[in-house]
Order: sequence, then C-alpha cells, then structure tokens
Amino acid sequence: MEEIREIASKFERISAHSHIKGLGLDENLKAKDIADGLVGQKKAREAAGVIVRLIKEGKMAGRGILIAGPPGTGKTAIAVAISKELGKDIPFVQVSASEFYSAEMKKTEALIQTMRKAIGVRIKERRVVLEGEVVGLDYNMVPNPYNPTQKIPESATLTLATKSEKRTFSVSGRLALQFMYQGIEVGDVIMIDKETGRVVKLGRSEKASKKYDIGGEEVVEVPSGSVEKEKEFTYVVTLHDLDEANARRRSIFSLFSGESREIDNEIREAVDEQVKRWVEEGRAELVPGVLFIDETHLMDIELFSFMNRAMESEMAPIIILASNRGFAKIRGTDVVAPHGIPLDLLDRLLIITTEPYNEKEIEAIIRIRASEMGVELSDDALRKLTELGVKFSLRYAVQLLAPANEFAKLRNSGKIGVEDVERAAELFVDVSTSSSYLKKWEEKMLT
Ligand code: ATP
Repeated sequence: MEEIREIASKFERISAHSHIKGLGLDENLKAKDIADGLVGQKKAREAAGVIVRLIKEGKMAGRGILIAGPPGTGKTAIAVAISKELGKDIPFVQVSASEFYSAEMKKTEALIQTMRKAIGVRIKERRVVLEGEVVGLDYNMVPNPYNPTQKIPESATLTLATKSEKRTFSVSGRLALQFMYQGIEVGDVIMIDKETGRVVKLGRSEKASKKYDIGGEEVVEVPSGSVEKEKEFTYVVTLHDLDEANARRRSIFSLFSGESREIDNEIREAVDEQVKRWVEEGRAELVPGVLFIDETHLMDIELFSFMNRAMESEMAPIIILASNRGFAKIRGTDVVAPHGIPLDLLDRLLIITTEPYNEKEIEAIIRIRASEMGVELSDDALRKLTELGVKFSLRYAVQLLAPANEFAKLRNSGKIGVEDVERAAELFVDVSTSSSYLKKWEEKMLT
C-alpha cells in the first residue's frame, strides 16, 4: 500500500506541470510571451535557456542551479521546463528537502538514493529474434503428470513466414504453453526473443484479419526479410533501478537483509562498475537527469556537505535547488547564510530569481491549465479565478479548477460558471486563510 500511495502522490505533483513542454525561447534564447506552456517570468526562462546550453556542452559538471523566489512563482515550472529542453527520456525527480528525513533510512542514504533516481542509463541491446506471421501451429498434447485429467503441450511445431521466407521450428513445451496462454493462433504476427524465450504478439496480419474479422485487434504488416534476425532494443533505466535489482538478487542469499530499504555501498559500486563497462563497450549511455530539491533550507549541514561531494562525481545529476528564504540559519549550525545554504555550496551555484506574476499572467496560466485539464471556463469564471489568484495565490486559483468542474458537472453543464468557482472558493480556502483561522482560534483558547 505504501508504495502505491508514494507513486500516486509523486504522479500528481508532476502532472500539475504537464502543460509545460519547454522554455518557450526563440533561436536567440529570447523568451516569447507565451510559448511551450510557459507564461511570463522571462528573465528566469532566458537564464534557464543559457543553462540548458551549458549542460548540453558539458560545461555544468560539478555545478548546480539555485532558483530563488517567492512561493508560487513557477520555480518548479522552470525546473520541469529545463528537463523538457534537455530531451526525451531525461529523468526528472522532484523532492522536498523534508523527504530526506524518514524513519526508514539515514538521511544521507535517502539523498544518495534520490540522486541515483535522477541518473538514467540508456541501454542498447542487439538481440536475435524470430519474427513473422504464424502460418502453422500444432501442439503435441500429453496428460499433465500432476493432474492427469488435464492435457498440456509437450512440444509444438511452429511455422513462421515473412514476405520472402517460411521456416518451421520444433518448440519446447514451455514455449508452447506461452503460446496457449497468450492465445496465439494462425494469422498472428509474433516476435520471439531467442535468448529469453519471451513471446510478443504484434497483431494480426491483414489477410487473417479480413478472413476472420476479429474486432479490436491491431492489424500489422507481415515483416520482410528473413525470419531470424538481429534487432536493436533501447530502453532507459535509472541507476537506482539497477541498485535495487542487484540488492534484490543478492538478498536471496542473505539471511540478514531485514526490512531496511538501505542499499549497501558495495552494491552501488558494483553497479557503477558494470555501467562503466557497458558504456566502454558501447552498449549503454549515461543520461544525467534533473534532481529538483524544493525547500532547500530544510537540508542540514551534513546533507549539504554530502551533496557537495557527490556533485563532483562523473555520475551526478543536474541539481536544481529552490528557495523562498532570504537569510536563514544553516540547519544543524548557528551560522546564518543566504538561503540557509553553506557558502562552499553557494559558490558552485548559478542563481536565477523568479518574480510574482501580474494579473494578465495569472489569467493566461489559469487558461492554459484549464485547457490542459480539458475543462471549459466561462468568461466570468475566468475573471473570478484570476481575481482569486491575484488576491491569494496562483496555486490556489489553479487548484480550484478541479472542484469547480465537479460543481459544473452537478449542474449538467460542460462549462465552469462563476457560481461553480464561488461555490468551490467557499468550501476550500487558501493557505493564508486556513493558517490565520487557526491562529485566531489558538489566541482565543489562550485567553
Ligand atoms: P514554486 O515552485 O515557485 O512554488 P510552482 O512552479 O510549484 O511554484 P505553483 O505555484 O504550484 O508553481 O503554480 C501553480 C500552477 O501554475 C502549476 O501548475 C504550475 O505549473 C503553473 N505555473 C507556474 N508558473 C507558470 C508559468 N510561468 N507559466 C505557466 N504555468 C506556470
């Protein structure tokens, strides 16, 4: 259950920014008013554009980025845009510094695991496969030794055809069972991984689909060339995925694996060695992703120095810190420093600032979010939400879209009206209202 909740909440946090496709810059790195889902915040976007170039040219190694600005000014939005600009498959990990403190593991362990979730390994593999249309499939059935009333395949004869070749194979009982479970039949186009014996159904051939007309099945072209061929497969996993897979494999042999989710350094070192070997052999590529750490002032001196060291490694993600604090004590010390960040780390950071949005920008962002969510807004409703965004916060206005849409549906309306926004705003308050309400309550209790 834990796992599922964790994934769900992370998904929500990232999907709040699903409308952001990039930084919205022109070829001279100038920000357009509204582009790639981003509105305003031009100086920060242009600075971020320069950073993306530095990263691509390999000139950001060992350095990080700090985005400083008031709450709700799009710090996360800009970090998401940077990862989008870096390209497809770039891991993006978002955490609040508070998440490093948990009962499950040491804080430095939590930090290193998070950093490794933000480093991808693109693995390229050439594998031998059999691919073609099934033109013959005969099972050799025998009684199941464990349950003689049942019959199971002992073997099978399979004929696969491409446009130019036809080959017949004798197939083991295990593979034959896979065919049965997957309901493979004559007319299907399939692929068999010769190494792992995995069978993938690609669809039905055009001829077969016309003959039997089974609805809902994808029609695919019968491959050309020979039945047996080498194919290249590409996928991205993170260093943390590899660490976990390795730890799991080893724990079979260990009586002391316990419940801890900490991973031995020895395992990480073995994974690093393996990945380096793959890279040298041209079988894999490192894909450094983006690690975005919100509420940086909650990191303590130990975490900061650990991170500072880790940033020097060739296997470090691009670290983006966000802060809405001016001067603050560095946690775990009595030292006051800009943003609560130690000076030796500050020295490594390029700093970007974000500014509060004006009314027009807030309106444009609400409009983009509404269209991303697929909901319609009346002019009055948009005006009201903008007003609330200006008075309270952009985040509050954007969050009201979902409940307001529910009220619109209750009225059987496909469009959010001003009454739906008002009803939602009555029930849900913004964070400054909720905290001052409790403050008043506490004062009353004390007198
Ligand atoms: P911060 O990290 O500074 O607190 P944020 O990026 O988390 O801010 P929110 O205040 O949560 O921003 O913003 C609410 C919504 O508005 C989010 O969906 C966010 O993606 C979006 N948003 C924020 N800034 C912009 C922008 N400049 N252009 C488009 N959408 C934005």
